[in-house]
Amino acid sequence: MRPTILFPLFADVTTLKGVGAKIAPHYARLCGTKIVDLLWHLPVGLIDRTYSPKLRYADKGKVATLHLTILEHIPNERVGRPYRIIATDGSGEITLTYFTAKGDYLSKIYPLNKSVVVSGNLERFGRGWTMSHPDYALPPERAKEIPSFEPVYPLTEGLSRKMVHKTAQLALAHAPDLAEWNDPHLMKREGWTGWRESLLAAHNPTVESRHREALNGRGDPSPHPQAQARNDGVYVDPSRQRLAYDELLADQLALGVIRRHHRQTGGRALKASGTLQQKLLSALPFTLTKGQQQAAQEIINDMVKPKKMLRLLQGDVGSGKTIVALMAMLHAVEAGVQTAMMVPTEILARQHYERLKLLVEPLGLTIGLLVGKSRAKDRQAVLQSLEEGSLNIVIGTHALFQADVTFANLGLAVMDEQHRFGVHQRLQLSEKGRGVDILVMTATPIPRTLTLTAFGDMDVSRLMEKPAGRQPIDTRLIDMGRLEDVIEGVGRQIAKGAQVYWVCPLVEESEKSDLAAATERANLLAEHLGANTIGLVHGRLSSEAKNKVMEAFAANEIKVLIATTVIEVGVDVPNASLMIIEHSERFGLAQLHQLRGRIGRGATKSTCLLMYQSPLGEIAKSRLTTMRESEDGFLIAEEDLRLRGSGELLGTRQSGMPSFRIADLARDHNLLAIAHADAETILAADPELATERGKALRTLLYLFEKDAAVRLFRSG
Ligand code: ADP
Ligand code: MG
Repeated sequence: MRPTILFPLFADVTTLKGVGAKIAPHYARLCGTKIVDLLWHLPVGLIDRTYSPKLRYADKGKVATLHLTILEHIPNERVGRPYRIIATDGSGEITLTYFTAKGDYLSKIYPLNKSVVVSGNLERFGRGWTMSHPDYALPPERAKEIPSFEPVYPLTEGLSRKMVHKTAQLALAHAPDLAEWNDPHLMKREGWTGWRESLLAAHNPTVESRHREALNGRGDPSPHPQAQARNDGVYVDPSRQRLAYDELLADQLALGVIRRHHRQTGGRALKASGTLQQKLLSALPFTLTKGQQQAAQEIINDMVKPKKMLRLLQGDVGSGKTIVALMAMLHAVEAGVQTAMMVPTEILARQHYERLKLLVEPLGLTIGLLVGKSRAKDRQAVLQSLEEGSLNIVIGTHALFQADVTFANLGLAVMDEQHRFGVHQRLQLSEKGRGVDILVMTATPIPRTLTLTAFGDMDVSRLMEKPAGRQPIDTRLIDMGRLEDVIEGVGRQIAKGAQVYWVCPLVEESEKSDLAAATERANLLAEHLGANTIGLVHGRLSSEAKNKVMEAFAANEIKVLIATTVIEVGVDVPNASLMIIEHSERFGLAQLHQLRGRIGRGATKSTCLLMYQSPLGEIAKSRLTTMRESEDGFLIAEEDLRLRGSGELLGTRQSGMPSFRIADLARDHNLLAIAHADAETILAADPELATERGKALRTLLYLFEKDAAVRLFRSG
């Protein structure tokens, strides 16, 4: 159970002053619903308002605090023109502009001929000074309300900088003093303070912390790439580093605990002669690549041993992981146990089921499908045969580890596209049997430096080569301005028998606008190409409706599949040879790579058009160029990490690596290595976390919501 000292942190944000039921959803979107979520929502920059020049000597482009006298109000003549206020500081004049505010409100805060202190971004427009929507405008007697330094928090619609700042301060008041869990030597070496002190410092950055950061050179000496894009300074001060370390340590400890638990409970030696595999291989229309053979061998070697297998099969999209998994599954079945394959979506579950069925039924094996939407009768039949042991193989979604699913003898669990599943889900499925071997498959090409966090210490098999006969994909960059040409091109390709994926622009933050963009595109394409050639899938469709469209596409009844990113995972339609990705500059590299992997699977040459909105920023340009020049997922992943930081690769909803609240793996991977070693040492010396430090570490685990890991202790 969560220790009482943490209770205040897990209270709802609505318990804070000023956060009502109306505002709460905005916070939920921004960072979360609990006070602790606000604490992890750290500022990304600092505004220095101490610059207070005379206009005559001022520098443009800086945040400035000015003491002004109001000379004149010029209301907006028509919509779209700003409301202007002319003021002077005695050395020069400035125009304050507002596009949205009302005149009567502005007359109140800017009374004619009176003094007003304003603070905001000072700009030059033509030959005069301007400030658009000053952040502060107060009478001189209240000027001290303008903070000298103001943290800049990431924001979302409906929340202002000031509101988030204030709420964060209120949240901080709930932070208790916690017993130290970090090694004193490490703290000394890194110059860290205690948890609470670090948290306060991280939320209240000072100019000194920025300077220190610039000088000590331990952090990233160059400006952070994301910071550059946002045009504000990100500073890695020790307080922030400490919090990042805490997060990484909690993660590594939790993984370590789960892994130990998994390995300690004994495994089973699954022995088989390989007859079923031989039969499968002779029935396949192709031969396995060397990489596939080797991976299959590594997996089977693990299964033969009495230890539990915990292996990751990593291979690019289209590298042929499924057949390798099937080899392992056949080994398991021949050894007399049942095997389950869990995939993240229903579409994928059906596809795997249909395909594997064709391969395994001729071998005399039974295979079933279990998804959320299974009809009660089908579901009952599958459940019964699983429990009796007459079903050898089951393919399914999360539905597989529901309480009423009982296996007679589960021996191997395969998880495909694992990044959608959490560590806990992995555990849940393996607990459906005794000593279950686990094989996890992922197409996310994780840079070596990061495999640790994502998968802890799993054994890894990698498929580096693609099956023979694959042609390289021709990837081109095209300006959005050429949309019509592209549509015509699609028409020509369809006429030649090709099928097309059309991926719609990713609209930040809002499913609704994603949907709107996709629908609009579908209408335009329907107009040009004919309504019955196109199908649309998006996140809001029921899975039945989605399946229907996907199946029609797989059956070549539909020629163009317009999609938000739901096609990202796993679906295989070899006849699709053209992919258009709109606003590709908004996608992460890893995601683009995954998407592109849907084509280039058949015999014809495939083309991928990355459409972009110009002008492209430097980073976006490098990313798209990388895509054009490489198809190597590992290289792309490394490049992604270099260009954007792991935030891009790891943080986004779709890319699916564990995302951290504070730690940034591009910046903090040195900390990750330390945290990993630290966690190992801790668990070796104090496996039940029973010592003083151990108890503090349990609090750390709860603090980062690793409750499931704590439950694995004998005295959880
Ligand atoms: P992924 O690794 O993305 O899961 P799949 O397992 O879906 O890839 O394989 C992609 C396609 O390649 C499938 O149609 C599969 O039948 C085919 N394939 C797999 N292995 C080979 C091989 N050795 N030679 C030719 N085609 C293969
Ligand atoms: Mg796959």
